[in-house]
Amino acid sequence: MVRKAKPFTLKNGELYKIDQDNKLRRCLTTIETQMVMKELHEGPIGGHFVTKLTHKKILDVEYWWPTMFRDLHDYCRSCDACQQTKGLAIQSLAKLMKSLPKE
Ligand SMILES: [Zn+2]
Repeated sequence: MVRKAKPFTLKNGELYKIDQDNKLRRCLTTIETQMVMKELHEGPIGGHFVTKLTHKKILDVEYWWPTMFRDLHDYCRSCDACQQTKGLAIQSLAKLMKSLPKE
């Protein structure tokens, strides 16, 4: 039986997760997660990307918390701008589909 090492470590008094790609990702507090989600979803470098892309961005800046994917999903779902653009995207897709020549 192989025992997995605990994928966490302490560095300068802060908790880091050792991820599958061997990167150290700092574990954030609840308050920090809200700030990071806001910044990386709605901020100047955000761009209102879907959950998966925003999730990747947060991993890229090397942050982590246990419920990040679920939190992001809820965050994106409750974002007004996203709900509106999603609606628009579906409308324009429907229009595009109608305008395509049928074979
Ligand atoms: Zn959004």
